[in-house]
Amino acid sequence: MREACLIGGEWVTAERWMEVDDPATGAIIGRVPMMDAAATGRAIAAAQAAMGEWAARPAKARADILRRFFDLVRANRAALADLMVAEQGKPRAEALGEIDYAASFLEWFAEEARRAYGEIVPAHAADKRIMVLKQPVGVVAAITPWNFPAAMVTRKIAPAVAAGCGVVVKPAPQTPFTALALAALGEEAGLPPGLLNVVTGDAAEIGGVLTASPIVRKISFTGSTGVGALLYGQSAATIKKLSLELGGNAPFIVFDDADLDAAVEGAMASKFRNAGQTCVCANRIYVQGAVYDAFVERLTHAVEGLSVGAGTEEGVSIGPLIDAAAVAKVERHIADAMALGGRVLAGGERHARGGRFFQPTVIRDVTPAMLITREETFGPVAPVIRFDTEAEVVAMANATDFGLAAYFYARDMSRIWRVAEAIEAGIIGVNTGLISTEVAPFGGVKMSGLGREGSHHGLDDYLELKYVCLGLD
Ligand code: ADP
Repeated sequence: MREACLIGGEWVTAERWMEVDDPATGAIIGRVPMMDAAATGRAIAAAQAAMGEWAARPAKARADILRRFFDLVRANRAALADLMVAEQGKPRAEALGEIDYAASFLEWFAEEARRAYGEIVPAHAADKRIMVLKQPVGVVAAITPWNFPAAMVTRKIAPAVAAGCGVVVKPAPQTPFTALALAALGEEAGLPPGLLNVVTGDAAEIGGVLTASPIVRKISFTGSTGVGALLYGQSAATIKKLSLELGGNAPFIVFDDADLDAAVEGAMASKFRNAGQTCVCANRIYVQGAVYDAFVERLTHAVEGLSVGAGTEEGVSIGPLIDAAAVAKVERHIADAMALGGRVLAGGERHARGGRFFQPTVIRDVTPAMLITREETFGPVAPVIRFDTEAEVVAMANATDFGLAAYFYARDMSRIWRVAEAIEAGIIGVNTGLISTEVAPFGGVKMSGLGREGSHHGLDDYLELKYVCLGLD
């Protein structure tokens, strides 16, 4: 745990500080410096200075260091998970899972670093030869959220560093310690000083410097759609490349031919992971009329079996929400649903433990008019909506500005193809509630974002194409 930022290979502090608390208790666990605009500029300059020599190294040499970084994250798995539980609140088993997921991006992009193949193109004239080179995009700024404090950092820095880019990371103010610990491991793995920088402080001030800088050629952001749109606008003047992984409003559809027990299990996994605080969490559960009552009953039973508590406690499946505002939003969505005819079957209120703990909740008789189906709730609430026909549910699923993940349970093969093709989302889970893996392209359509992270496509987002036309004598 470092109470300092990494800039140009030095661990530095500032006169002003910001405190970080434990969402389970509200107790202050530490503080990080508030770096100013000048310090952010130094981080950008350091990334630029370091990346020339780094990009010139053979891909295998970069891959070896990324691989060592992977090994170090794995070796420090338990300590990283404990740090994450302290600042983020998720159950320890989930934190360990996230560290493995975070590490997987380091391993994957260590492998992909060696496969940034260019092309030789059949030329348009007998005396010409055409080659396409892939080169690093330039300095990358990575702005990351609090819900996955490790994985969202490695999912950006691993492809950037693999491609040969220097990076400036601005982690979320709620969870900076995980990002700083990862940077310390990167340093230990042998990343050259200045290649990877981490800057904490005022988001708008640092974001302003990162987006205004002509040296920063790419912004990779995961967070809210509002901030994503702001960064998109701020990046216009310098024509940056952008990867934006923004909000979702995931539909989870259960057709009447589905395996109901599997659907309940998938809904539980998708809805309640990280206490519902993920951008791919099921936000609207649609169930076909014939199986509606049976599904709701089984889901309620499963939700009643969840245990709420601090992430450090044994057997806990739902930790606290990140802050008071998150609790207030969940309450607002439930109150609105109840006012419009929704019936709460489980939970519905703050947990008796107080603080930021909330009871896992099931609401039935939910309709598309309710706030809970239109906004991302980002909490442990499962709203269940009845539908009749496939056409109707596809229309409802697509009636949103967002398009990140969508899920459905069905067994009819023709229906599976039809619905998978008709739903407007970047990621579709069919008969599964868990879709995150480093080997597949993660990202959204519509207002859920731009670009894809992970998979072999993930490296391309950090590479530019350069076409070389060679004239022969
Ligand atoms: P959330 O609502 O989940 O906290 P945000 O989009 O506010 O999502 O935060 C995601 C990341 O964006 C965090 O690192 C946060 O500090 C950062 N952020 C918030 N506002 C700005 C801004 N104006 N400029 C740059 N980064 C910002």
